Amino acid sequence: MCCDGTLFDGVQLERGDSAKRLRALGLPIGLSQGQKPVGRFSQPCAALCEDRTCHIYQDRPRQCRTFECQVFKDANTGRIEFPAAQRLVEKTRRQADRARRLLFRLGETDEYCSLGERFHRMQCRMETDAPDAAALALFADLSLAVHKLKLVTQAKFYPQSDEPDSP
Ligand code: SF4
Repeated sequence: MCCDGTLFDGVQLERGDSAKRLRALGLPIGLSQGQKPVGRFSQPCAALCEDRTCHIYQDRPRQCRTFECQVFKDANTGRIEFPAAQRLVEKTRRQADRARRLLFRLGETDEYCSLGERFHRMQCRMETDAPDAAALALFADLSLAVHKLKLVTQAKFYPQSDEPDSP
C-alpha cells in the first residue's frame, strides 16, 4: 500500500537519488509543484509488479528505503504480533479495493492515479455535474469507504509523531 497509491500520491526524490538513473529504470520522474520544485514520481508506482514486489528494489529511491509504516514498526518491536499485522494489512487493502470499485462504478477509471487524487476528482465532479440519485447514493458509499480507510491509515499506518524517524 506504500507503493500502489493507497497511502501516498507520490514519492519525492532526495539527496543521493539520481533522476537520470531512475528514469532509465522506468520511473517517470517529473517535478513537484511549488516554489522549490524537486524530482518526484506519482503513485501507483511504475516499478510495482503484479506480485507487489518492487521491480527496482536494489535501486529504489531514498524515501522508499527509509520509510517504514507504523504497522511494520509495531510488528518489528513486538507491539503487535505478525499475524495480527498481516490481518490488518489485508483488511485495509480490502477497504482500499472497495473504494476503488466504487470509483470505477462512478466512472472514475484512471488506475494510474492515486486513490486520494481519484477521490478528489470525483468530489469535484459531484459538485460541478448534476448527478442523479443513483450516483449520489454511490458517492455516499464511496465517501464513507474513503473516510473509514483514512481513519485506519492515520491511526495504524502513518508513522506516529513521537517516532524519531518519521518522514
Ligand atoms: S520504487 Fe519500489 S519501493 Fe519505491 S514506490 Fe516504487 S515500487 Fe515502491
